[in-house]
Amino acid sequence: MTAVPSTAGCRPGCGACCIAPSISSPIPGMPHGKPAGVRCVQLDADNLCRLFGDPRRPAVCERFAFDVELCGEHRDQALMRIGELEAIT
Ligand code: SF4
Ligand code: SF4
Repeated sequence: MTAVPSTAGCRPGCGACCIAPSISSPIPGMPHGKPAGVRCVQLDADNLCRLFGDPRRPAVCERFAFDVELCGEHRDQALMRIGELEAIT
């Protein structure tokens, strides 16, 4: 099987960008945002955002777009790369 990395869009069920980065805006259930490496409380068991389409979803989440440099080819790569970026910024 050949995995073809998608350059077009996010992998549903990845959720790395809801775990690795810190988020300073309030999130329902996390009024002070979330620290880096902590799973967002709004990330469900399937690693999908419970607030998708909800106006309470932080604007920063809306803006986080799939980026092959960051998201890599699979979830672990995304967790590592976003974590590294977080550590140097
Ligand atoms: S890290 Fe990338 S691929 Fe994973 S959920 Fe976020 S945008 Fe999608
Ligand atoms: S609010 Fe949704 S998109 Fe934003 S970090 Fe939490 S689970 Fe991810």
